[in-house]
Amino acid sequence: MREQREQVLRTFENLRKQIPLLYAVTLVNAVGVHLATGGNAFEWFSPLTLLGALLLWRMIFWIVFQRPTHEFRVARRELVKMVCFTALLGVGFSLWVQSLLTQYPDKSLTILLYSLLAALGAAYGLSSFPRAALLPLIIMGFPLAVRVFLMEGHAAKGIGVSLVLVLGLFTWLLQVHSRALTGLVSGQIALGRERNRAVAAELEAVKRADEDALTGLANRGRLVREIRDHLVRGPGPGGGSVLAICDLDGFKSANDAFGHAAGDQILKEFATRLQREFADRALVARLGGDEFSIFWKDGLSGDQIEEVGSRVCELASKPVAWDGKELSVGASCGLTEAGPYTSSESEFFRQADSALYKAKASLRGHWHLYDQPQFEADQRRANIEKLILSGSAAEQMYVVFQPIFCVETGQPVFAEALARWDSPDLGLVAPDEFIRIAEKLGVIDRLNEDLLDKALTSVADWPTNLALSFNLSAMQLGRSASAERIRDIVRAHSLPPERVQFEITETALLTDLEHAAKELKKLSGFGFTIALDDFGSGYASVSYLTELSFETIKLDGSLIDNVLENERARQILLGLVDLCHAAGAQCVAEHIETADQYRLARAMGCDFVQGFCLGKPTTSEKMLEALGLEGGPSRSPLGRATKD
Ligand code: C2E
Ligand code: CA
Ligand code: CA
Repeated sequence: MREQREQVLRTFENLRKQIPLLYAVTLVNAVGVHLATGGNAFEWFSPLTLLGALLLWRMIFWIVFQRPTHEFRVARRELVKMVCFTALLGVGFSLWVQSLLTQYPDKSLTILLYSLLAALGAAYGLSSFPRAALLPLIIMGFPLAVRVFLMEGHAAKGIGVSLVLVLGLFTWLLQVHSRALTGLVSGQIALGRERNRAVAAELEAVKRADEDALTGLANRGRLVREIRDHLVRGPGPGGGSVLAICDLDGFKSANDAFGHAAGDQILKEFATRLQREFADRALVARLGGDEFSIFWKDGLSGDQIEEVGSRVCELASKPVAWDGKELSVGASCGLTEAGPYTSSESEFFRQADSALYKAKASLRGHWHLYDQPQFEADQRRANIEKLILSGSAAEQMYVVFQPIFCVETGQPVFAEALARWDSPDLGLVAPDEFIRIAEKLGVIDRLNEDLLDKALTSVADWPTNLALSFNLSAMQLGRSASAERIRDIVRAHSLPPERVQFEITETALLTDLEHAAKELKKLSGFGFTIALDDFGSGYASVSYLTELSFETIKLDGSLIDNVLENERARQILLGLVDLCHAAGAQCVAEHIETADQYRLARAMGCDFVQGFCLGKPTTSEKMLEALGLEGGPSRSPLGRATKD
């Protein structure tokens, strides 16, 4: 149907240029016929003037008034009109010529010549519309050829036959032309259709590239572009732009429990809710997985920020219907407002991410707005990272030691190495802080190996009955061949392995028990002592005691903190001491800060004690001096502690 319409429109357009020629040819030949039969060209009322007037009018009409059209109906109507007129003209011309032939037999050849030229000219003029082009041939051409054939004389018969053949050939050519024309138009239509399809596909691809396939929201690429454009333009009238990043809490569990289709439904539903709520003022995007983002380029007031923060969490907490069930998840949300420090879209994202992290850390299902203290903490963290990665941190770090005493003998048996970093740029950085950062950066093994090397250098000055206790990091144990590397470092200091104890925290085991256990067994096999640190502060502690064997277990400092005031805490500590002994390990009471705590630890059966009241972490020299281990008589703080 579409093809047919296209054909009609094209035929009309081509004919618009050709039709005047058709009328001109017919007019010239009509005048020729008229003059050949002795007529006066300017007679007012004759068939010629009537015919001529009609032809002239049509010619002018097609040249001046017939406008191009894209409307199928108009084109079809004009074509029909044109065909009817041509047929009428053909019949009129034919009748006129036939009567002239009867009237002027002596002029018959000239009349026939003009008439046939008119018929052929008209057919040619209509060649863009081959079916219509047949009309002048059928109405005028063939009857005249037959008329010639019927005339007397051989020559007339021959010319008649020849004319029929020529007209037949012309008719055949018109048919061929018609088919070729149809094919050409079909080809052009198909080409046009292909072109349209390609343009549509390209538009779709551009749209897809900006769209998240599952939810139909904008994707990360589109969001980043939008933020980049806006940050370049600067904050809008409502203050800085606001970016929220939220992720679903409990999504993974729902996905695991009910399958991916359920997970997809949760994501789609949450996307729809966000879109419905915020799309009129903000760009809502899915960043990937269960992470979504909302960007208000024109900013929000303080109250509005609070409102949207809670609204996002609220929208996620509404149950999602799926397969007759109600699935429940939640969302935490981090928000940030572009300020003078938001120099790039990656910084903007980082702030929102940091706020989300904080929201999750405090209480899931809540929101948090990135603020100045957080900015300062992030700056500090970034500086720490820079110094660690550049190697300056390792150069500036040193090790202090804190003695661990045997309760029974009162003598120091271990000294725990504790890292210190007094940075000229950042001041004192606590080991808890930089160790965690180095772990995240994946450089903890290098850093800790460096610290071990520094600690071992000090051990060379110690009496042989004082061993080093060194903290290993969770991540460090996760690396393969870490045990061998540690052994090699100790070997390089020519120390027997019995003089080194490695402390490992519960959390380290929690990360990858299988691998950590393998490395620990290797260390144990090399002759080192292994201690479980911070026991009682994490989870699943007891199961480790059955799977791994430790020579020493250090009870977490928090267990000692309120042991004096709290009877239940005392009972728990007592139970844990028994547990350590049952596991075949000696136990250390950490964080002994008062003489009473020490006495209690001793009374409960702890084998070793460590804490500020017995010896604060200090340099190797100062520790040896305090302990009277630089060569003079040994001084044990335990004697003093018991007397206090
Ligand atoms: P940790 O292994 O539990 O170390 C004991 C922490 O308790 C030390 O803090 C120490 O200074 C502190 N402490 C000692 N006695 C007392 C006391 O009586 N009361 C109180 N409140 N605290 C006491 P520090 O030096 O800040 O180290 C913190 C943590 O950083 C360590 O906990 C350890 O996990 C880690 N760490 C320290 N140095 C290194 C190191 O060289 N390598 C690795 N991997 N971790 C280290
Ligand atoms: Ca420790
Ligand atoms: Ca500890």
